[in-house]
Amino acid sequence: MYSDRIDKLFSEQLQNWELAGNNYRDLSKVRVRKIALGGFEVLLQFNPARITSSSAKVDESHIKQRPCFLCRDNRPKEQKEIPFGDDMIILVNPFPIFRRHLTIPSRSHTVQRIIGSFGTLLSLSQAMHLYTVFYNGPQAGASAPDHLHFQAGNIGFMPVEPDFESGRFTKLVSSEPGLEIWKWEGYHRGLISLTGNDEAKLSSAFTKLFERLSLLQPERPEPMINILSAYSRDKWTVHIFPRKKHRPEQFFSSGADKLLVSPAAVDLGGVIITPREEDFEKISAGDVADIFSQVCFDDLEIDKVIKGII
Ligand SMILES: [Zn+2]
Repeated sequence: MYSDRIDKLFSEQLQNWELAGNNYRDLSKVRVRKIALGGFEVLLQFNPARITSSSAKVDESHIKQRPCFLCRDNRPKEQKEIPFGDDMIILVNPFPIFRRHLTIPSRSHTVQRIIGSFGTLLSLSQAMHLYTVFYNGPQAGASAPDHLHFQAGNIGFMPVEPDFESGRFTKLVSSEPGLEIWKWEGYHRGLISLTGNDEAKLSSAFTKLFERLSLLQPERPEPMINILSAYSRDKWTVHIFPRKKHRPEQFFSSGADKLLVSPAAVDLGGVIITPREEDFEKISAGDVADIFSQVCFDDLEIDKVIKGII
């Protein structure tokens, strides 16, 4: 039912909201380049409209000073909403990466935290079965760390999704009715996947994982994390990327060494956004592997985390 309502929302917004109409039309012209990396591919997307998000200043003092763009009073008057439950609203994202790209903020201005909202992430993905719903932690790519929100994009767009289905990089490490835990190997970025149809078991496995990661980053408001969640064929698939760093050193370099890449859920899902053409042209497989290794856990670190939760 939500998929139909969202389709209608898109038709209406693309017709009546000039900014969204233009940006979705331009999306068909964005350039995409494939990079082969050890048996799999990532996609580069040259997307100049994403410069604001990729270079967003998310330090506390800056966030406190700016008007929150997810609060209703500050949102564009043309932007229409679909309510989800009592607390969340579904909006068309006017700066798309996906052919269908949604922002799903809470009604109230409340901090970005996954504990307490993981259940909402599961409910959203179940209700929006044509979409992958994703979460960027407050220090792991969210450009509004002060306002709880998810995003969603059309399912199957990110290479990590078919790569998981292929089974070439994953091993089942734990299985019980309603819940499976998978680890990835040789994928150049550490992640853990949970699948199953038992919402309570998925939530409890996630909480265990979260608590384990919290021990490694006790000084942070929550461990740095990106999550992708989709529901299809009567079960959830949730990919969890623990993070070591928000942005790679190339982001802060100047001159020829600079690469304006600010990884978040979509980039780790295998669609790397380069808002500057020069980065799109020059970024190599080696650069991608290096960026992943700086910001993500490696296979050994993931192993240790998994051993702590099974
Ligand atoms: Zn807000």
